[in-house]
Amino acid sequence: MSNDIFVITEHMDGKFSDVSFEMVGKAKELAAALGGQAVAVVLGGGVDVNGFASDSTIQVDDPALAQFNPEACGKVIEALAREKSPRLVLFGWTATGMDLAAWLSARLGQPCVAYVKGVSLDGGGLTVSSQVYGGKMVAEVAPQGDMAILAVLAGSFPVEAGQGSTAASQIASPVPLDGLKVKFVEAIKPAAGDVDITAQAKLVSIGRGIGGKENVELAEELAQALGGTVSASRPVVDAGWLPRTRQVGKSGLKVKPKLYLMLGISGAPEHLEGMKSAELIIAINTDKKAPIFNVAHYGATADLFEVAEAMLELL
Ligand SMILES: Cc1cc2nc3c(=O)[nH]c(=O)nc-3n(C[C@H](O)[C@H](O)[C@H](O)COP(=O)(O)OP(=O)(O)OC[C@H]3O[C@@H](n4cnc5c(N)ncnc54)[C@H](O)[C@@H]3O)c2cc1C
Repeated sequence: MSNDIFVITEHMDGKFSDVSFEMVGKAKELAAALGGQAVAVVLGGGVDVNGFASDSTIQVDDPALAQFNPEACGKVIEALAREKSPRLVLFGWTATGMDLAAWLSARLGQPCVAYVKGVSLDGGGLTVSSQVYGGKMVAEVAPQGDMAILAVLAGSFPVEAGQGSTAASQIASPVPLDGLKVKFVEAIKPAAGDVDITAQAKLVSIGRGIGGKENVELAEELAQALGGTVSASRPVVDAGWLPRTRQVGKSGLKVKPKLYLMLGISGAPEHLEGMKSAELIIAINTDKKAPIFNVAHYGATADLFEVAEAMLELL
């Protein structure tokens, strides 16, 4: 066993996800405490791999890794983990990370913790905080054994700590990747022409309290006046008032804007999962007991239509 910490990074369209940098930053801190190395692992080519603050970066290039393929990625990570025996293997708790963390855990017979929000190594003992019951509770667990696999929620650690300029070394796949049973067919992207709410600095987010499709325009006017975009809770999307690309939350997108202005959203745990890391949360809700007021930095117990009209006038 080594004291190294592997971070399985994620990239798409030539760009690494924020959670990759978050994990590298945390891995550096943990590896320093253990006397090991934080190793960023990059699967596939076509991306600038020299931007991590890791102790080392390994890029595995192979045609089978050109597009996400859980079988190919799983086999490579398994081979690397068997060869180097890292103390921890970190994945993002994302669509791809869920797949791979579970694969690795099953293949190696090592414990896996999902929904990870925190990791500490007190006196060498590993304690992991994991968000359970849709974010209502946090469980602290102590995975046993020489290796643990952790799937980390985006927004848990600072991005900046993982950004740097470590030069990567390229290696060929440590296992043959021919005869794969899983084939990549197609990447289905969000509807063309729609905005990417995860990249917006200001979001005006509407919930069931908006009342109907005819009122969405008011939120759009407000968002435009603020220089932002409209996002929504799930009922708004389920009702067809906005497209699925605008949904924030557990089964939608995770956003981290500078401003998240919420109009008529109650603050269900499934919604909070997608926006809790926003820098400034302002909630408008007629119900003073709405759970969102436990999370919002500022709030008003008021009718959203009155507030939106007044804000528009001021802006
Ligand atoms: C597996 C699973 C996944 C889910 N994924 C998601 C997800 O990704 N995203 C998501 O959002 N939800 C998700 N949900 C649903 C979630 O549990 C909630 O049902 C949902 O978030 C509630 O949306 P809401 O706050 O808009 O509606 P409600 O809970 O109905 O809240 C509406 C709020 O509007 C307020 N209101 C009404 N009228 C006004 C007014 N005139 N002015 C001001 N306030 C007003 C009310 O007081 C109320 O608080 C998921 C649920 C499950 C089980």
